[in-house]
Amino acid sequence: MSFQVEGKVAVVTGGSSGIGLSVVEILVSEGAKVAWCGRDEQRLIASKTYILEKYPDAHIFTCRCNVLDKEDVKRFAQQVNRQLGNVDMLINNAGQGRVSNFEDTQDEDWMKEIELKYFSVLHPVRAFLNDLKKSPCGSITNVNSLLALQPEPHMIATSAARAALLNLTHSLAHEFSQYGIRVNSILLGMVESAQWKRRFEARSDTSASWEQWTGSIAKKRGIPMQRLGKPEEPARALVFLASPLASYTTGSTLDVSGGFNKHL
Ligand code: NDP
Repeated sequence: MSFQVEGKVAVVTGGSSGIGLSVVEILVSEGAKVAWCGRDEQRLIASKTYILEKYPDAHIFTCRCNVLDKEDVKRFAQQVNRQLGNVDMLINNAGQGRVSNFEDTQDEDWMKEIELKYFSVLHPVRAFLNDLKKSPCGSITNVNSLLALQPEPHMIATSAARAALLNLTHSLAHEFSQYGIRVNSILLGMVESAQWKRRFEARSDTSASWEQWTGSIAKKRGIPMQRLGKPEEPARALVFLASPLASYTTGSTLDVSGGFNKHL
């Protein structure tokens, strides 16, 4: 079964690497027109080259844009409209986590974390809302973390901000139902990322392979599937929620954590 996104226009924030780039690739392979942004020009160019080498006929647009800069996001939205047309799907993926406990977290760190988790969603939602209202299948899909429901003391600010994002996602789902816009999120556990790759390169026991090394981390953390997720695994869940296949699903969260979820 296809995701039914052929010819639809999607925006992926933070599409230049990891999970975002996997989302871009699935959407492009399904015939969607896809725009994505990131802050680093070189990463954007590399991601664009990667996609065009695999899908030379892809309808794509990339642009440097910091999702925390409202004017940047407005400009990005105008350019997407000109290049690809009216947007049907917004996937809010840009961001990162912060490792710190209460005593390590200064007030400015709290403010930065709250700004990142709120405004990386609020600015794009504002900028693309009129498009989504005009779409026959408008959707917003937010990348969130299991930390929203299952806080970790060593990620105290990220956990609290993630809980707020979950709450916000539900409010948006209610408010935007009147426009036919669905709003959902996924809750991630631990997914292979550039950060894990860097830690792997710096590992003390160089005899361990990537699978052994990540597998032992997953076991230590108590992930029942005993491995980290691969970027394409959350990406498939994101594309499903964003697509017309999930037409009767809004205000929902899909857990993509390999069973790490311990709450009922
Ligand atoms: P990556 O670092 O591989 O990708 C993050 C992407 O977001 C990059 O394209 C980055 O590009 C972009 N980005 C970051 N900040 C901004 C910004 N202010 N404006 C625009 N683009 C930005 O990470 P992952 O793929 O692993 O993570 C994707 C999302 O999933 C993130 O929001 C992350 O917090 C979340 N997540 C990931 C988990 C994991 O285990 N991997 C666990 C829980 C949540 P650039 O730096 O060039 O701007």
